[in-house]
Amino acid sequence: MTDVMDIALAYEVRQRRLAARAVRAGLREWAALDPDDLSASWRTVGPRLVAVLAAAQTAAAGEAGGYVDRAVRAQGVDPDPQGRIVPEAFAGWAADGRPLDTLMLRTLITTKESLGRGLAVQDALGVGGRLMSMYMATEIGDAGRGAEGVGMHASRRVTTYTRVMGGRGCARCAILAGGIYHIETAFLRHPCCQCRNVPIADGGRNPPTTTDAAAYFRGLSRAEQDRLFTVGGARAIRDGADITSIVNARRSVYTATAYGRRVQATRDSTTRRGLFYQAERRRALARGDTTPGGFRLRTPRLLPEEIYRQAETAEQALEMLRRFGYLT
Ligand SMILES: [Zn+2]
Repeated sequence: MTDVMDIALAYEVRQRRLAARAVRAGLREWAALDPDDLSASWRTVGPRLVAVLAAAQTAAAGEAGGYVDRAVRAQGVDPDPQGRIVPEAFAGWAADGRPLDTLMLRTLITTKESLGRGLAVQDALGVGGRLMSMYMATEIGDAGRGAEGVGMHASRRVTTYTRVMGGRGCARCAILAGGIYHIETAFLRHPCCQCRNVPIADGGRNPPTTTDAAAYFRGLSRAEQDRLFTVGGARAIRDGADITSIVNARRSVYTATAYGRRVQATRDSTTRRGLFYQAERRRALARGDTTPGGFRLRTPRLLPEEIYRQAETAEQALEMLRRFGYLT
């Protein structure tokens, strides 16, 4: 019996190729836009882009039903689906509910706005074309994922899922791929994300293996580590920092003023329930600086980058990584 992760990985590759083919077809249509009369040529190009995207969405959703079925069977469980997926139902609109012609029209508008800002026509077409590619990849991914979700709901034997990363993945997706989620939990994704649902069969054998973010990180080249996790973040992970805390810190970055200068900080973990908030409060209480009810967090939580900028020795950097809650 084939392992469920082999099935998921093969499916992920097929879906990614399907999206890439559609994007290439879209770019060929895009090249037919007339730089001298964008609006007139859009009357032909626009509907063709919509057709390419809708066909790819249908194909992506069509793959999903069989995939969920095979993935559940690979765990020794009969999926017992309560119906069949209708692929066309996942095509023709974007994840936010917009019809595809409205979505595609955005790419023409962006092209014209770029022209209006003074870009040369070929550069403006490049900007619009990239946006079109991003929309297509994202919406094709969403159509497939939407159908995977319905397929999982249709099976009486699936109540949870995990994720498999699309392609090389990204820092946030690597963390998310380590989790197990209830099927009612929305699938978080970023533009162009090609990550996939992996159904977990209730009471099944050989359940899917979740991604170990630390192993994923170690498997990357140093350049990839720096690119995906930022130079400071990757360095902190190599120094032993917790990957999740490093990735989460990037969700809410801001520039604070502290110690008389501007510093790179994060709001992550600084709310009342946050670990950094709690740790700072304990430290203040231990010093006798505050009363149990009187604590207010005034210290910005520095980003790893900032810690390495400020630390004078490797030992001090580790101490700061610990204080700011990246290292236990
Ligand atoms: Zn992803």
